[in-house]
Amino acid sequence: AAKARQCGSLIYHAQLDAGSQESLSMLSELRRAVEENELRLFLQPKVDLVRRQVVGAEALVRWQHPTRGLVPPMQFIPFAEQTGFIRQLSAWVLAGAARFAHDAAAAGLNLRLSVNLSTRDLMDQDLPGKIEALMAPLQVPAQSICLEITESAIMDDPERALSTLEHLHAMGFKLSIDDFGTGYSSLAYLKRLPVDELKIDKSFVMAMERDLDDARIVRSTIELAHNLGLTVVAEGLETIKAWALLANLGCDEGQGYYICKPMPAEQFIAWVQDWQA
Ligand code: C2E
Ligand code: CA
Ligand code: CA
Ligand code: CA
Repeated sequence: AAKARQCGSLIYHAQLDAGSQESLSMLSELRRAVEENELRLFLQPKVDLVRRQVVGAEALVRWQHPTRGLVPPMQFIPFAEQTGFIRQLSAWVLAGAARFAHDAAAAGLNLRLSVNLSTRDLMDQDLPGKIEALMAPLQVPAQSICLEITESAIMDDPERALSTLEHLHAMGFKLSIDDFGTGYSSLAYLKRLPVDELKIDKSFVMAMERDLDDARIVRSTIELAHNLGLTVVAEGLETIKAWALLANLGCDEGQGYYICKPMPAEQFIAWVQDWQA
């Protein structure tokens, strides 16, 4: 709440109740943000830890607010989830990511774009159809899009999530479990879910150099992922030492400030060309 208060008169806070005055004005502000083109697509690279190659990017949304400046996602995503506005937001991000994948391919870069989906998205039975309609005119193969879902979003209603995820997987999308290890994971569901990738939560990765337990969790997660035939990505890779440790443990890919912070999508292709030069 203290953090929310710092943001000024309009309160950007997850706990707003959906009918309150603030949340109504927040909702109309978000609608305006989409109409006035105030949302910004940021990208953060995912790098193959052995080959040092950029293999993809995660799409992370920002809000370029006319008076507030660049608003981070944690200040409006929870609210968007609560009101259901997240569906429009997810569609916006997905379209942006697909368009970017198309432009990158035209520039000779084969990149997989990861997009975050929320619980609300997963519970939407029409999601696969909507995604299909959105992707069709963009001429981007589904395989170049990876959908990141948290364990908690799945465990909210596992059967329903499973059916949506199976549908998306059959359409060719890659699926990833985000923030792995922080939610109520059920290994039984992990086995049944048609996922391709696990992302080790940054809390473990950032602590593994000083805390042996975190290091063990990272190591076991890598083993678990590989035993299940999944690619494993470490997020929160902040030091060269973490890179070396992760590469040693056989972790496939990394994402984090040591490589690069999220940047505006317009800068990404030049950044990759520079990194790989
Ligand atoms: P996430 O999906 O776990 O995304 C990773 C977050 O970790 C990003 O924060 C990224 O900037 C940050 N990060 C990456 N590397 C490092 C590192 O080395 N150190 C540290 N300390 N942090 C690192 P960001 O962009 O602020 O996003 C926060 C969260 O907001 C995301 O967490 C995701 O849950 C949500 N979010 C962002 N964009 C979207 C979106 O388009 N849709 C949905 N549904 N959620 C989004
Ligand atoms: Ca994510
Ligand atoms: Ca994550
Ligand atoms: Ca996270």
